[in-house]
Parts: sequence; C-alpha cells; structure tokens
Amino acid sequence: MNQSATTIDTSATEALGKQIRGTITLPQDSGYDQARKVYNAMIDKHPAIIIRCVDVADVMASVKFAKAENLLVAVRSGGHNGGGLGICDNGMVIDLSGIKYIRINPADKTVRVGGGNTLGEVDHATHAFGLAVPAGIVSTTGIGGLTLGGGIGYLSRKYGLTIDNLLEADMVLADGSFVTVNEKQHPDLFWAIRGGGGNFGIVTSFLFQAHDVDMVYGGPTLWPVEKIEEIMPWFQDFLEKAPEELNGFIATLEIPGPPFPESLHHKKFCGIVWCYSGDLQKAEEIFKPIRSKQPVFEHVGPIPYPAMQSLFDGLLPPGLRWYWKADFFKDLGAEVATQCLQFGSSIPTPLSQMHMYPISGAAGKVASSDTPWAHRDAKYAGVIIGVDSNPANDEKIIQWSRDYWNALHPYSSGGTYLNFEMSESNDRVRKSYGENYDRLLEIKKKYDPDNFFRVNQNIAV
Ligand SMILES: Cc1cc2nc3c(=O)[nH]c(=O)nc-3n(C[C@H](O)[C@H](O)[C@H](O)COP(=O)(O)OP(=O)(O)OC[C@H]3O[C@@H](n4cnc5c(N)ncnc54)[C@H](O)[C@@H]3O)c2cc1C
Repeated sequence: MNQSATTIDTSATEALGKQIRGTITLPQDSGYDQARKVYNAMIDKHPAIIIRCVDVADVMASVKFAKAENLLVAVRSGGHNGGGLGICDNGMVIDLSGIKYIRINPADKTVRVGGGNTLGEVDHATHAFGLAVPAGIVSTTGIGGLTLGGGIGYLSRKYGLTIDNLLEADMVLADGSFVTVNEKQHPDLFWAIRGGGGNFGIVTSFLFQAHDVDMVYGGPTLWPVEKIEEIMPWFQDFLEKAPEELNGFIATLEIPGPPFPESLHHKKFCGIVWCYSGDLQKAEEIFKPIRSKQPVFEHVGPIPYPAMQSLFDGLLPPGLRWYWKADFFKDLGAEVATQCLQFGSSIPTPLSQMHMYPISGAAGKVASSDTPWAHRDAKYAGVIIGVDSNPANDEKIIQWSRDYWNALHPYSSGGTYLNFEMSESNDRVRKSYGENYDRLLEIKKKYDPDNFFRVNQNIAV
C-alpha cells in the first residue's frame, strides 16, 4: 500500500464500482504505480482513486462521485502534459484512455474521435482515407489536451490549428450533466473549449474537419549550430514567402545517437524539420532554396503523413524527465539567433532542445477573438525543453531551460502557448488569453462556478 496517498471509504468505492464499466484503481492495488504514471517522469503524484472510464456514463458517474466525496479532480487523455495536469495528489483521476473510437465520414471528410485517443491513432485511421486532421507531432500525445489547448503541427500553416478544425464536442459538465456543443448548441461553451483547456468540462468526443493529406515531402535538415545566425533569419524570410503547404520548425539540438549517422552523434546543430503537404510534383522545386543553403545532413523526401508525424517517437519514449518553458515570438531576428547560438552550444543533455513552431499562414488568419487562442499575430510558438532520463540531471536541465528562456524572453511578443508550459501562474494564464480572458471567466462562472475543473491552466473564479 502506498503510504502517501489519501484513501476513500471502501463502501463508497464499491458502490461506484457497481455503476461503471471501467476500472477503479486504488493506492493499495497492484496496478496503482503503473496507473499513476504520466509521460513526464518528473511528475510523481499520488491520487486517491484512478478511474479508467470506457464510456460517457462512466465519466458522468465519476464526476458525481467526486462531487459527493468532495474530491479534487484531474482529467487525463494522453497524459503528455508537461506540468502533469492529467494527474493530481490525493484526488480523483478521470482517465479517458479507455474512450477510444475513430469514425471517418468520407462524404464530408469529418472525423469523430473519442476523448482518450492519441494523435497516432487518429493519423492511422484517417490515412486509410487519404485524410488528416491538423494536430501536433509525436504520435503518443493525447488528442484531448492538445486540442483543448490549441494544437500546433505540420498542417497549421495550411489548415490552421487543431481548434480551427473542431466542429463539435460532447462534454460532461461539472454538475455531471451531458451536452453537445457546436456553433448552434451552447456556442459560448464551444468558443471556450477552442483554446480554454480543460476548464469547462470533460470532452468525451470530438468532431473534426479533416483534409486531403496523404503522402507529404519532409524530414530534417541540419547545419552546425555555429551557422544559426545565418540560418535562422534566412528561415524566417524564406518561410514568409513560401506557400502555406510548406511548414517547418527550427530547433537547436544535439544529435543523441541512432538512427542518425555516427559522424553526427553528440554534435550540436541548428535543425529544421520540414513538412510540405502540397503537390508532390512541385516538391523538388520548393526544396531547391533549402538545399542551396547546403545542410550538412538531410533526410528529406516523400513520406506517408503518419510516418512524418511519428518520425521522432523513438527518441522520445514515455518515462523521460521533462522541463518546459515557452513564449510567443513575432521576429526571429539577429538578437534571437545570437541567444540561440549561445544556448544551443551549451545543451546540457542530448535530448534537450529549443523549437520554434510557425503559427503563420492559416493559423494566423483567424481573428484573435474568434477563439480563446488570442495571440494569432505572433509568428512562432517557441519552446525550450530540458529532457533527460536521469533524475541526477534535473537541476542541470531546469537551469539551462530557465537561462535560455530568460535570454530569449526580452525578444518575445507576450503570452505563451499554454500547452508548451508546466503548470502556470494565474497571471501568466491571464496574459496568454489576453483580451479573451474576461469572456472565458464569464463562461467559467456560468458552467463551473465552483472551479470543480481546476487541475489545468486554470481560469480561477
Ligand atoms: C512529446 C510531446 C510532443 C508534443 N508535441 C506537440 C505538438 O506538436 N503540438 C502541440 O500543440 N502540442 C504538443 N505537445 C504539447 C501537448 O499539446 C500538451 O502536452 C497536451 O497537454 C497533451 O495533451 P494530453 O491529452 O496528452 O495531456 P493530459 O496530460 O492527459 O492532459 C492535459 C490537460 O488537458 C486536460 N484534458 C485532456 N483531455 C481532456 C478532455 N478530453 N476533456 C477535458 N480536459 C482534458 C487535462 O485535464 C489536463 O489539464 C507535445 C507534448 C509532448 C510531451
């Protein structure tokens, strides 16, 4: 039995067990330590009860139980959140990973997805129809947290963020009731969940607009980090003029080992990972200016979209220790590149990186007030991730991430992409929603006046 977790009255949990089809895991159960694991091994929390729901009825019963027992509630989809917002100490975890289904309607290219599906599962199912839902990279990420926070990925410049492709959601609210939200039904709530995170209820099902994306042309190109002061401003300029089908994120990184060639191992690079989702016949022409910059390594070519999406899965298995810090940027000019040269040259562990993801093109054309995701005028979502497997390196990766962030912060444009953060202060959450914060607060007061859903980037009532 785990001594540090709160216990709940046995008769109450037995009664709950009779109401649900999913499984209940308690601190004394043998599967408890496995069930409380999240992707980031730096997070070590001990819930009093974990309920792996398999349907909406389970979620409704769980919410009502938590209310009756006055339990803190965390909602978990993929468990990827950097700050571990899918789990909590001494409360209830409503784990949605048993609510998985994907139904594609090829006629209108819409996709119905369960609240517990991962990105890889969605990509696999849609690819059979030559379709894709714009979402993030790394296939083990949960569709739940990614979508509710925004959703940046390789298709953002062409088709917008994941929230820009959300048509409808089914939700269980703080009082245990069920609603479907879309442009016509509960439009205020539909607006709020497109960026407002898990503040408003538990999404058990998403309906997305998918797009014709099948084979893409992409992969990484690398230059020695010493060239970043040349490559970064060029990248910004080039991408601004490039078709929206071309996307790429720029990074400072170390090559940790295979599958990259041995000659690159443990050297520091400025890398760009490209993904072109337009007409493949035009790809070679589009990539000519990139190749003219003479990368020291490239692995770029035609690739099925799901393979592109999971290109780095092998390097980033669950169980590594992560520390995240983020900001938005409007300009990756000389000052930013100079800081990236300094911190990109002093990467503390092989998997620690800095990424700048474009949010230009279609993602930037949505008005700031159309969704809670306020900073549509920013051009890049930057993130610094200190990553390692060894707890002895925690201090080192945290310090490097903070120092890198402090050096870049003066050139940032305000607010942050909350999905790229640890658990943030209310002030930083407020700034990230900007002028949309007051509207979110009103909707929070209407649907969750007691702040029942507060293990998230919280809009505190
Ligand atoms: C390796 C890796 C790669 C990533 N790549 C990208 C990327 O390319 N693009 C990008 O935009 N982001 C990316 N992210 C960040 C990611 O969007 C966030 O970590 C997100 O929170 C993950 O969602 P999740 O469902 O896996 O997380 P969880 O930890 O399960 O949940 C995170 C938060 O969302 C809430 N939540 C989750 N599902 C629901 C639901 N169905 N209903 C209500 N609330 C819910 C939870 O309560 C919690 O507050 C990445 C993260 C990792 C670790």
